Parts: sequence; C-alpha cells; structure tokens
Amino acid sequence: MFGTMMTQPLTISSLIAHAQIYHSGTEVVSVETDGSVDRSNWGTVGANARRLASALDALGVDAGARCGTIAWNNRRHLEIYFGVAGSGRVTHTINPRLTPEQMIYIINHAEDQVMFLDRTFLPVAAKLGAHLKSVRHFILMGPRDEEAADMVEGLLFYDELLETGSPDFGWPVLDENAPAALCYTSGTTGNPKGVQYTHRSTVLHSIAGNQPDGIAISARDVVMPVVPMFHVNAWGVPYIAAQAGAKLVLPGPQLDGESLAKLIDAEQVTLSLGVPTIWMGLLAGLEKTGRTAASMTRTVVGGSALPPSMIAEFRDKYDVDLIHAWGMTETSPLGTLNQLLQKHTSLGVDEQARLREGQGRPPYGVELRIVDDAGAELPRDGKTQGELQIRGLWIVESYFGQDKSALTEDGWFDTGDVATIDADGFMIIRDRSKDIIKSGGEWISTVELENIAISHPQIANAAAIAARHKKWDERPIVLAVPVAGTNPSEVDILAAYEGKVASWQVPDRVIFVEELPIGATGKVLKNKLREIYGDVLIDGTDA
Ligand code: ADP
Repeated sequence: MFGTMMTQPLTISSLIAHAQIYHSGTEVVSVETDGSVDRSNWGTVGANARRLASALDALGVDAGARCGTIAWNNRRHLEIYFGVAGSGRVTHTINPRLTPEQMIYIINHAEDQVMFLDRTFLPVAAKLGAHLKSVRHFILMGPRDEEAADMVEGLLFYDELLETGSPDFGWPVLDENAPAALCYTSGTTGNPKGVQYTHRSTVLHSIAGNQPDGIAISARDVVMPVVPMFHVNAWGVPYIAAQAGAKLVLPGPQLDGESLAKLIDAEQVTLSLGVPTIWMGLLAGLEKTGRTAASMTRTVVGGSALPPSMIAEFRDKYDVDLIHAWGMTETSPLGTLNQLLQKHTSLGVDEQARLREGQGRPPYGVELRIVDDAGAELPRDGKTQGELQIRGLWIVESYFGQDKSALTEDGWFDTGDVATIDADGFMIIRDRSKDIIKSGGEWISTVELENIAISHPQIANAAAIAARHKKWDERPIVLAVPVAGTNPSEVDILAAYEGKVASWQVPDRVIFVEELPIGATGKVLKNKLREIYGDVLIDGTDA
C-alpha cells in the first residue's frame, strides 16, 4: 500500500522551472571570455535553456546523448547545464587543464555527440578534432564569428542556435534516476573515471547541501562560484542558486585576486566558493588594492587542505566567515561542511577557529566511517586514523561505462583519504592514503608537516612526501617554496618542527624548490615529486 500524496520526479528541470517562475527578475551576471559583462536574469536563463533544449531536438541530438562543454563559468554554460539535462540529455563538463591525450580519452570514452566551446578553447578543439570519433556538432558559445568558423569545419554558433529554438518548450517528464551530468576524476593515476550524476542525486544534493548548516544560499544572497563549472558542477552551486533564487555572479576566465576583488565590490557578492589557492590570491588582491570585500559575509573553501591561518585572516581583516568543506567528484561533491554545534557557541574565538580548521561533519544525506586495512570500523575518538568511507543519497555506485560496483561489499565508497572522526562526527583529513608516509610502520601525516612549513614566514608553499629509506622504509622530506626575495635555510625550517611534532616525525630533509608541480584540478602532484625526489635519502642527490 502507498500513501496518498503526489509523486513527482526530482528532476533538474524542476530547479530551473522554479527559478524562471519565482525569481525571473533576479540577476545572473556573467563575465564573458572577452572580459565584457553580460547582465541577464533567471527569467532569461530559463527561457534560453528551453530554447536550447528544443534546438537540440531539432538538430537530432539523441535522447540521453552526452553533450560536452569546455567552458568557463558564464551564462551560456549555465543555460547548457539546464537545457541539456532538462531535455533528457547529459551535460558532460570537461576540464580544459587536462592534457590533450586525457581530453581525447575522456571525450571518446563518454562518446559525446555535441561539444560546446568557449572562444578560449577553440584552438584546443581544432587540434583535438580529428581524434574525436563521436562528436557530430561543435558549437561555439557566442554569436557568429567568421574567424572561428575558419578554424573548425561545420562550426555552429550558440546564439544562432538559440534563435531556432522555442522559449515555450515544455520540459519532458523524466525518470529521476536518469543520468543528468557527467564528470571525470582528474586521473592523477591511471585513466580518468567518469561519475554520472542522476537527476535525483543532483536535486537531493541541492536541497540537503543547502541547509542552514550547509552552503545556506538564500534568495537574499549574491553567490559567486569561483570553483569552475568544469569541476564537479561548481560544487552544485548552479543548481542550488536556481533552487534558492539567488543572484548569481559567474566570474568567467579572470580568476586572479584583483579581478575577483573588483567583481565582488561591483556586484556586492555575499558568498563565494573556491579552492584555497583562489582565496590566497584574493587575500593578496585585497591587500594590494586596498579593497575590503565589504559585502562578503562568507566563503566556502575545499578541494585541498586549508592553511590554518586563512580562517583568522579572513575573519580579522575582512569579517568574512571561512567555511571549510570536503568532498570529491564521486560525492557530488558535498561530503562534509564545518559548522559548529550549539555546545560550541560558548567557546572562545580561537577554540572555535581551531575546531573549524577540520573538514567538518556530514549533512543529512551522507554518512561517514573510518576503517582499518581489514575493513573493520575504527573508533570515533578524534585520534584513530583510518581509511575514510562514505555512503549516501548522492554518492557514486559505479563508474560510467563500468558494470562492476565501485563500492565495498557492504555498500560503502572508499574515498582514498585517511581521516579521523570524533564523537560528534567532525572529520579531519590527515592524508590521501597514497600520500601518507609510513616510517617504520608508523603513519606520518603530510598535511601536518606542510602546515608547519607554511606557517614559517619565509615559506610560501610546501609539500611533504615519502622518500625511500634503507632502515625505515620511508622517511618524510619537505619540498618548500621560499617567499620571493627570501633565502631561508634548511636548519631554520627544520627548527620550526621542534616541539610541534614527535621527534621521529620531523622531516629528514627540507629541499627548496622554485615551484611545486600542479595538476588539472589545482592540486600538488605528489606522485611527480616522489618520482623526482623519492630517492634523495638513498643516493643523496637533490635531483
Ligand atoms: P581528484 O581526485 O580528481 O583530484 P576531486 O576534486 O574529486 O578530484 O578531489 C577529491 C579529493 O580532494 C579528496 O579525496 C581529498 O583528498 C581532497 N580534498 C577535497 N577537499 C579537501 C579538504 N577540504 N581538505 C583536504 N583535502 C581535500
């Protein structure tokens, strides 16, 4: 027997339909690839998404077909998110920072029928073109452009295509478990793997992830996702902003601190989201320009470990609350967000800040646990480290195109992160399991060693890695980038570890480098560092 309430599928079209009706006049501001600013609103975005959907039908793009995008955060990209998924196709966002080989692999693997491109990426597409087997239509995200037309044969133009579509297109009723969006992991090891989100998982992520202790976007917010729309759907912000009816600011290609500071002031941004490197850039940009980001109340930061000093700097200088979050492509991405509990409200500022340095606790909809090598659950005592596993309403079950489950036998997804969880469910990432250093069988957290190095005034950035060792198997070494114009000594930096970690955890070496190798999602490529420096303790060369 069933209850007697309406049954409506949870679909992405319902998000944009809501925004189009109830928030039609709320602005969507978009910085274009040429730097100009496009001012529009949810009414126009909703109508354009419908136009695009009907134009794709007219073009004969198959139901369920994957449609690729290689694009910045801008208005047309937003319309594609909704028009493609809303019409029963799959939005496949592609990270332009991948190597050409990886991009070819991903596009062929996804069998994309359509490729939407920003002007910036047209040369890349022209180069890849011959290798892409499935793509029937390349569509430039802009008006007609004769120069571009010469670069790619048969190139279509988005703005012209929209004119052929109908703003009255009715969204089809879809199965909520149908695929809606596809994102590949960056594939630092092996080939990238695709995660195909469903309408249902996306809508549940949008609702549950936007609770007061979640991202908490309201109709009074001005939201600026700096995290790219090609990286886990900009953490779901386009969908959440539609559902909440927030003003949306899409920053386009200029993501340096000064450009962002200017945009924040111009559009009165209240909330922004991005990786730590972006916020380091913004802090520098504010300092340089003397701007104060006065409209900003909070930023959400995640994607890699947060330098602890950043929370205090945002709070003390700019009165901005920095909210630490953790997730991954496989988790849509929201896994945890760090908001305190009622019992923490009486704690002092420093104590609260210390608690908020961790990655936080899961919202309703996901569960976390840590396990040992044999898969047995470990205690939630805030001290015991184990492999972090997750399950919930928006977590991957199997990778795109693979029959086999990506889960453990009892239905959890192994994140590849090593973490602690305390009795209240607050989780702290200690390492990636492949990065952690195992010295004589004991684990040493690279995150902790990096934070100590970075807190030294002469160190701009640092990465700790395992170097092979004859006696201990592995010992920690630190690759450190000095602050420009300084000349720190190894002895000085090593002295910074005294009293902060156990003596056996102090790195064996600090090696100064000009820069650290960064991958396509902005993270330090530790496997590359291990290749170069992994033997320094054995053969004594500094590479
Ligand atoms: P990829 O694996 O492709 O780099 P993801 O963007 O899916 O891409 O990255 C997920 C990983 O990023 C997590 O498993 C974790 O190791 C790391 N990560 C994400 N957020 C944080 C955070 N707040 N602190 C530390 N590490 C994080």
